[in-house]
Amino acid sequence: MTHIAFIGLGNMGLPMAGNLLAQGVTVYGFDLQESAGQALAAKGGVAAKSALNAVEFADVVISMLPTGRHVRELYLGDEGLISWVKPGTVLIDSSTIDVATVREVAASAASANLDFLDAPVSGGVGGAAAGTLTFMVGGTDAAVERARPMLEHMGKSIIHAGPSGCGQAAKMCNNMALGITMIGICEAFALGRKLGLTDQKLFDIASVSTASSWSLNSYCPVPGPVPTSPANRDYAGGFAAKLMLKDLRLAQQAALEVAATTPLGAEATALYALMDGAGLGGLDFSAMIKMLGADNHAV
Ligand code: NAD
Repeated sequence: MTHIAFIGLGNMGLPMAGNLLAQGVTVYGFDLQESAGQALAAKGGVAAKSALNAVEFADVVISMLPTGRHVRELYLGDEGLISWVKPGTVLIDSSTIDVATVREVAASAASANLDFLDAPVSGGVGGAAAGTLTFMVGGTDAAVERARPMLEHMGKSIIHAGPSGCGQAAKMCNNMALGITMIGICEAFALGRKLGLTDQKLFDIASVSTASSWSLNSYCPVPGPVPTSPANRDYAGGFAAKLMLKDLRLAQQAALEVAATTPLGAEATALYALMDGAGLGGLDFSAMIKMLGADNHAV
């Protein structure tokens, strides 16, 4: 029986751990917030007293933490897990963090004969609860195959992106493109409204024309055309603009490190920073349309 240590039981980690438990896997969880451990125990898991306590018998460690700083501290800090886990333990980090931290932790793990995978996810809190996440995984073939059965309990697509760091690279490239396309679709609706087009007519035409995209067809930033999009709930839930900003900043940091030219990524980062600064960072990222002054002109 596989024992999993799950570190970081927040919005994403708790439902992911819940899906492992639902498949009969033993989960020892730890979070700095005691209430998160209690919530795991209520689902049938074991609330550990510390990360070290959680990994004592673990075959696989999964971490789901806010930033690279937290991940670095967990694995390499004073009580860094790399010095404490059983030989042969597979380490999987599913947080969204910078590539440099991934490669530093993976190199340290390799020198201790441990496999470390970067396995960030797409699909949000809904995908975590439904077990339908997409995992983008960086690491060796052998390590990915060892991790796959556990990842399949939490996701529907497990894609090996390449060597260490490539999972995070895929995540930030995808989200940079998403941030940019969403702004483009918001600008189109803002302009369309001022030109006298109804939102529905623009949607009907653009969604079967060359502007067709996920941001338009599945996640339309105006209420009406796509009933499930956050625009219909006044932009509550969904993918918060401040999380989009975090991912865009990671992409800009990476672009700087490798001298990649990403002018629209830079512009998107600036616009989401403005949105966050205006107090709208908690809204879904499609609420960018409010920043474009289109909010009061719905037709
Ligand atoms: P969250 O803030 O809800 O959860 C993070 C948890 O980590 C918190 O409960 C916190 O107490 C805990 N934590 C921090 N340091 C810890 C430590 N040293 N030991 C144990 N626990 C610790 O964040 P989230 O929404 O679950 O996101 C987690 C990661 O997933 C982030 O990197 C985020 O960018 C990424 N992500 C989030 C979403 C989303 O929609 N929320 C989607 C995709 C990816």
